[in-house]
Amino acid sequence: MDYSTIFPDEAPCFCGSNSSYKLCHKLKRYSHGNELLYEQSQFILNTGSCAHYDGIKFCGNPTVKSHSIQRKRALSAIAENGKVLGFNSSPNGGKTNLNEELQFSLIGNRQASTFPGFCSAHDIALFKDIEIKPLNANYQTAFKTAYRSQCYETIIHSNAALFLSWAHDVPTFDFYFNKAINEPEISNMRWYAGYGWRLKELFEKIKRRASTRKFLYFCCLFDTQLPFCGTGSFCIETDFSGNKLQHFSNVSENFNYAQVSVLPQENGTTFFSVSAINDKNKKAAHRFIASLSNVPKHELASCALRSLIVHSENVYFKPSFINGLPYKHRQEILDRFDDREVQQVGLEKIETALSDPLSFDLLSNAIKISTNITKVH
Ligand SMILES: [Zn+2]
Ligand SMILES: [Zn+2]
Repeated sequence: MDYSTIFPDEAPCFCGSNSSYKLCHKLKRYSHGNELLYEQSQFILNTGSCAHYDGIKFCGNPTVKSHSIQRKRALSAIAENGKVLGFNSSPNGGKTNLNEELQFSLIGNRQASTFPGFCSAHDIALFKDIEIKPLNANYQTAFKTAYRSQCYETIIHSNAALFLSWAHDVPTFDFYFNKAINEPEISNMRWYAGYGWRLKELFEKIKRRASTRKFLYFCCLFDTQLPFCGTGSFCIETDFSGNKLQHFSNVSENFNYAQVSVLPQENGTTFFSVSAINDKNKKAAHRFIASLSNVPKHELASCALRSLIVHSENVYFKPSFINGLPYKHRQEILDRFDDREVQQVGLEKIETALSDPLSFDLLSNAIKISTNITKVH
């Protein structure tokens, strides 16, 4: 890869040091593995240029901290003293030490869920409908929230792939850095980024044609303000009944992704949506979404929480909810979130991850507007 075009020598270094790249990270020597983890998050925050594509070129203007979750309605709804609880190893979560135990961590709601995605003009243009209004359970909202979580994931993966490639090619390391292990990680990340961009393009096509044919979704509005929010886009592996739909280890052209959004609202409701674009593996996409219809209504809130903690790291909690849980229930959330065992390329999530109920109840008897699955043609 030619880094001279991505990081010109005289340009300010991506780390935000105010030094030129030539005098800063081009010469970087790492003496501890944990530095890499920290720098990846700095890199992701500081390298962004607006990824909006108008069909001819990328915008390229400086990015703002785009939110992937409504800040004014959802994050504010669950914030206490301006803060929400996330995981310390999540984006913006503050964990800089690999050996530090997985824990909850307080994050300011201006920082939570942000990514270097779009310039301020495009961020507003793309997401104002789902940023400032209360959300209803309908096709438009399901589509736009899914698109937003796809943008978040695509851009994070692209930046991570670039960082890993750079870390692999450019700096020298004082500690043991196994390039052979890093190679599959880099190609994996590139694969995700590439597929993410194709999906993003597909979202745009569907939007232009106002076609509902390829977008499968399930969404509902709880009559309860759930004490957590999150969005994410993830590989479909098993459905909500525990049936295996695709093998993560056989990532191929036939692989499909799903998107999840859980957005509690200031008006006391919670928008919940799970969707998939039925492009590569129609059967998996359809069966995945349809399996939510078989979930009893009183289990849906628990499903919302499980899909977030199992499949996304972009998830935030109302502090008093977590602090009020007994230790074993807090631990259960951490354990289900804990991905260390599947960090290695090719390993899969346990099959019951989405179907195993939590050992505690979340109020979700009340559902205002029910399900809607777009038919597969
Ligand atoms: Zn630097
Ligand atoms: Zn832009």
